Amino acid sequence: MTERRMTRAVRVGNLQIGGGAPISVQSMTKCDTRNVPEVLAQIRALEEAGCDIVRVAAPTMEAAECFKEIRQGCRIPLVADVHFDYRIALKVLEAGIDKLRINPGNIGARWKVEEVVRACKDRGVPIRIGVNAGSLEDEFLEKYGYPTPDGMVESALKHVAILEELNFTDIVISIKASRVDMMIEAYRKLAEKVDYPLHVGVTEAGTPFAGTIKSAVGIGTILAEGIGDTVRVSLSTDCTEEVRVGYEILKALGLRTRGINIISCPSCGRVQIDLVRVANEVERRLQHIDVPLNVAVMGCVVNGPGEAAEADVALFGGRGVGMLYVGGEQVRKTTEEEMVESLVELVEQKVAEIKAS
Ligand code: SF4
Repeated sequence: MTERRMTRAVRVGNLQIGGGAPISVQSMTKCDTRNVPEVLAQIRALEEAGCDIVRVAAPTMEAAECFKEIRQGCRIPLVADVHFDYRIALKVLEAGIDKLRINPGNIGARWKVEEVVRACKDRGVPIRIGVNAGSLEDEFLEKYGYPTPDGMVESALKHVAILEELNFTDIVISIKASRVDMMIEAYRKLAEKVDYPLHVGVTEAGTPFAGTIKSAVGIGTILAEGIGDTVRVSLSTDCTEEVRVGYEILKALGLRTRGINIISCPSCGRVQIDLVRVANEVERRLQHIDVPLNVAVMGCVVNGPGEAAEADVALFGGRGVGMLYVGGEQVRKTTEEEMVESLVELVEQKVAEIKAS
């Protein structure tokens, strides 16, 4: 993997984006912002899933007025997503948000931009410029005929220039597209032009199956090239799923560790247990674990002992029984009916030992 690109450090509440900080995982609430109990329930679920930063949309002044209460109930850095209206931006800043997502070029008159920038400076709140291929400004569509990576980069640089003119450099940038090839190209080009931290994502990636693959390819490619400081997976499903996928991408690249890393074989004609059911059941039962552990679930003795030797906790099948290993040592045999339960028990014991040490 390419060495990580060094970017400026930007503080978002108690967290740092860029400047060599661990790559953070973000998500967004998915209900009407005015429904504060539901927003806070989603934020709580996100916090438990390991979400580092949460974004909440502020589409109206009524929604913006809810941010005070949301702020009080939110324990992780809170980002407000604002479009066009500087008064909404000022309102959410007053409520104590940690980051503002707004495109300065879309705010309107310069004095309005100045007011927002002044309020951000006073509070030490950074701004995320978010360019999206689907809402690229007319001037770049006219210049290129349709959304292109070059048009997207020019748009991002235009917004950056507005902030820099006002001596504001507390900036994070995203440059997303729903087309993975376009998004990859756009991030590569942008990374050559600026040293601001980049928020990486494939926008409108789709349903969990297709969206996870698109996000893994798009975000994964960019991260493997050393680009990217924070990630958001956008899926048409529960927001906690976005966090799980975000972590899986980071784990796959060795960039973050969290929770269980499942190593399971695909199963084949040699399989000696109901491997597919067991592996999926184990993954589901261990979702609550946040301590990084490698757990192997293997169908037979061909590759089972080898993986078991490497994993923290492992199970492999052998003629209707399961061999259970901890730290490379065989600790028990179990029946097929009890193997999931036994494995979960051993993992939980291991987690308790790690937490106690
Ligand atoms: Fe097949 Fe055994 Fe390999 Fe699983 S571990 S894929 S069952 S040979």
